[in-house]
Amino acid sequence: MPQIIDGNATAKIVCEELSAKLKKISATRPPCVAFIRVGEDPASVSYVKKKGRIAAETGIESRLHVLPESVTQEELFKLIDSLNNDDCVDAILIQAPLPKHLSERDTFNRVRPDKDVDGFSSANLGLLCQEDPRAFTACTPAGIMELLKRYEVPTAGKRVVVIGRSIIVGKPMALLLMKKGADATVTVCHSKTRNLPSVCRRADILVSAVGKPKFVTADMVKDGAVIIDVGMNRDENGKLCGDVDFEPVSEKASYIT
Ligand code: NAP
Repeated sequence: MPQIIDGNATAKIVCEELSAKLKKISATRPPCVAFIRVGEDPASVSYVKKKGRIAAETGIESRLHVLPESVTQEELFKLIDSLNNDDCVDAILIQAPLPKHLSERDTFNRVRPDKDVDGFSSANLGLLCQEDPRAFTACTPAGIMELLKRYEVPTAGKRVVVIGRSIIVGKPMALLLMKKGADATVTVCHSKTRNLPSVCRRADILVSAVGKPKFVTADMVKDGAVIIDVGMNRDENGKLCGDVDFEPVSEKASYIT
């Protein structure tokens, strides 16, 4: 049986450590994060609620701004500008996906880089590319690096295959893994990759961020590979599942999330 990499348990420990750290900082107020949610997409409602709950448990104040689905780009910019200029707001998180009539790129770039803790702006992605320690890094890839570190999975010299090239997961994941210190040899795959199973079979570490249930099957996995499943999907019964066909892939993996 593979070792299970437990994301929930690790997240709890990270929050406890952060909370203890925050208690030691003498400041006139707790740090404050502003969430912006556009519309009532059920997944977005639930993600933002969870982020708010975790912030409160950790000792971080949060404010929620909900805009209607019909909001214009200018109205959204106006809210971001006011939060950029508000000295009581340290961080701004904009829940994706945004409705189709809004530009995610322009929206992310409107956030002041020192408040863009999601790291989706061109400024922070540029800093990440330059391996500048001041970069804020997208939380999912940063969380995966934390999991690999805490489970003592070495990355140096390893062949890593990342399936997915989004700004939110795939691209920053590849940048973090190839950074000096992590030193992995990274291949990034996407929907136009030819012969994906044979590329994946070469991976010592396989990261799947596709968004399709049972997409990664056992024939795509090398014996002893480390499997990181980023996908958050619903199966045919509406149950939450990842991208990986868990049972058969587990039989080959050394570690699996
Ligand atoms: P996305 O923007 O839709 O990107 C999906 C990627 O998968 C794209 O690069 C796409 O390729 C690629 N892809 C689609 N079909 C493929 C195929 N047949 N073969 C190879 N590649 C294929 O999604 P995302 O925002 O990165 O999120 C991916 C998944 O992770 C979703 O399930 C999302 O819900 C989940 N997620 C989880 C967390 C978490 O904290 N666990 C956080 C963020 C996202 P193209 O670029 O060619 O279209």
